[in-house]
Amino acid sequence: MRRYKPHTLSEAEERLMNERDLTGLHAWRRLFTELIASIDFPLEHEDESKHLSLDTILSLMRHSDRTLRQKAHRSLYQVLGGQSAILTYIYNTLIQDHQMKDRLRHYAHPMAQRNLSNQIEPEVVHTMLNVVETNYPLAQHYFALKARLLDLPQLELYDQYAPIGRQRHQIAYAQAQEMILEAFRGFDPRFADIAEAFFQQGWIDAEVRPGKRGGAFCNGYPPSNHPYILCNYTDDLRDVMTVAHELGHGIHFELARQQTLFNFYPTLPLAETASVFAEMVVFEYLLEQDRDPQTQLALICSKIEDIFATIFRQTVLTRFEEGVFAQREQRRLTTEQISAVWLDVNRRYYGDGVNQSDGYELGWSYIPHFINTPFYCYSYVFGELLVLALYGMYRDQGASFLPRYRGLLEAGASRAPADLLAELGVDLCEAGFWQLGFNELRRLVARMEELAADQQQV
Ligand SMILES: [Zn+2]
Repeated sequence: MRRYKPHTLSEAEERLMNERDLTGLHAWRRLFTELIASIDFPLEHEDESKHLSLDTILSLMRHSDRTLRQKAHRSLYQVLGGQSAILTYIYNTLIQDHQMKDRLRHYAHPMAQRNLSNQIEPEVVHTMLNVVETNYPLAQHYFALKARLLDLPQLELYDQYAPIGRQRHQIAYAQAQEMILEAFRGFDPRFADIAEAFFQQGWIDAEVRPGKRGGAFCNGYPPSNHPYILCNYTDDLRDVMTVAHELGHGIHFELARQQTLFNFYPTLPLAETASVFAEMVVFEYLLEQDRDPQTQLALICSKIEDIFATIFRQTVLTRFEEGVFAQREQRRLTTEQISAVWLDVNRRYYGDGVNQSDGYELGWSYIPHFINTPFYCYSYVFGELLVLALYGMYRDQGASFLPRYRGLLEAGASRAPADLLAELGVDLCEAGFWQLGFNELRRLVARMEELAADQQQV
């Protein structure tokens, strides 16, 4: 409350703002959500003509058939093109709303409000994003390698997530349980013990049933109770990772139960630490277990691409927001002006590695974060890079790392992220710390390169 005091208006003003938001901010957001949900994307393939939702058309970008990926890309942007006037108007209005409230609430910068709720100093965000940008050439190097594996002169945007190597066969739930527990045990027996309780006491609802909601999450409230996990397990490798991810949250909640209700739930930048770390532990374990180079290649490439999507792409999204907010200070923006900022920030990332295929200038127009949670995306960058760096520290320090890592999780949100991490010897204002994460990523890309070279010799 103390931190928010300088940015809070009188009660009458706050009440008025809240009421006005019903027909302002919230109404515009609702319009965006309903508009995007109502659009369907036509697709003709193998004598079949279908109308697909946004999620389905986006998922086709990961299909092994290049023609299908290309058709999905075309349909996506053709349809969005028809809606661009409304989408542009909604975004312009929401940026103006944000800027007006920043003025009234005395926030010095459009990102200031987000930093305050994340309890992160602006210098930390700037240092981190700058370090990410200096590592863009690593991504471009990977894209060139991937183009070679796919036998293409250059990747198009819709080739970015094309599958590589051989996907692992079906993994039954009982087998996933065994794998995860063994991986955790190799890391820290206490983690394995906590995870085992989830399986044995029935704290995980993993079965797919008619009428059950989709997705996956771990619910930890309140700290007087043990957490529960919901997921929908379909025997896929991605599902093994999902269970590991949710168990990471579960272990975090279990360890933080010694905190009070008010400082138990981790702040956003630390909320995904334990979950992504748990995925990393299982990923390394699987890579050890499976000696088939094609399966290893598939595993490594999908891990690298997940990390790219979290670190590099989310940095691009944040730079885009900074760019349009700066221009919107002067005037209302046209679709072309917003698209120019979008293409520019993307060009810096993709370089010559990926061609920004026709239509991509509207790539900003369907992303819900810009509408619902401005400047949220850097939190993903923070979480992922932090985990990579912590994993690097674990690799260096071995078992002596474990008590301090457990201490971090046990602390919940009792102190700000920077203070908690200081206990592990981490200085978030140091560019060198963020670079540690990229050393881990570089290691993965180098392993992919070796596997790819072996494959090309065969
Ligand atoms: Zn999560």
